[in-house]
Amino acid sequence: MVIVFDLDDTLYPEMEFVRSAYRTIARRYGRGLLPAMLAAADPREAFDSTGLPASDVIGLYRNHNPDIRLPWMSLYVLSCLARTGHTLGLVTDGRSVTQRHKIEALGLARFISPDLIMISEEVGEEKVSGRAFRSIMNRTEGRGAYVYVGDNPAKDFIAPNRLGWTTVGFRRGGNGENITQADPADFPEENRPSVEIENLGELLRFVDFYEFKNW
Ligand SMILES: [Mg+2]
Repeated sequence: MVIVFDLDDTLYPEMEFVRSAYRTIARRYGRGLLPAMLAAADPREAFDSTGLPASDVIGLYRNHNPDIRLPWMSLYVLSCLARTGHTLGLVTDGRSVTQRHKIEALGLARFISPDLIMISEEVGEEKVSGRAFRSIMNRTEGRGAYVYVGDNPAKDFIAPNRLGWTTVGFRRGGNGENITQADPADFPEENRPSVEIENLGELLRFVDFYEFKNW
């Protein structure tokens, strides 16, 4: 199978990246800024709390080398899937520099070949357009069924659903500390994942089931 992942809030909690940015801003501009940033409801409010020019703090937020690591469950799942011969990929929306730094910090190159890493700024279109998914299909012909694993019903599953992929999402509240926290049931059919899991570990059971190993 070709199993493609979303990055933020799917392979690691995006709040870890946000907090890493706050620590970087505090190291640069003063440690006293950290408590108010951590207490803020969202990054915008956190940036405002510093009283610094927005462009300075947003620049650090986007360009810093994040202090984040792959949760053990993600590490376990990616290792198992790679070792059992599945092809792994990544489709993520965001800026090239920001997403590249995250990918580097998480060590994803161990599991995913560079030509199957799709970042919207580099692709030229966001994931809903389908271009990133089609590129992956062109590069992996004959390697089996396609699966996309994501967390955000607002945009993650529309294009892969249209292309006939199996889509896997998290039940509301699943996957721990999630920024999106959207319930697939609140979205129209085309936005919903075809399979819902509680956490990434369940993906292994789904893959086994799909391949009839567990019957
Ligand atoms: Mg996400």
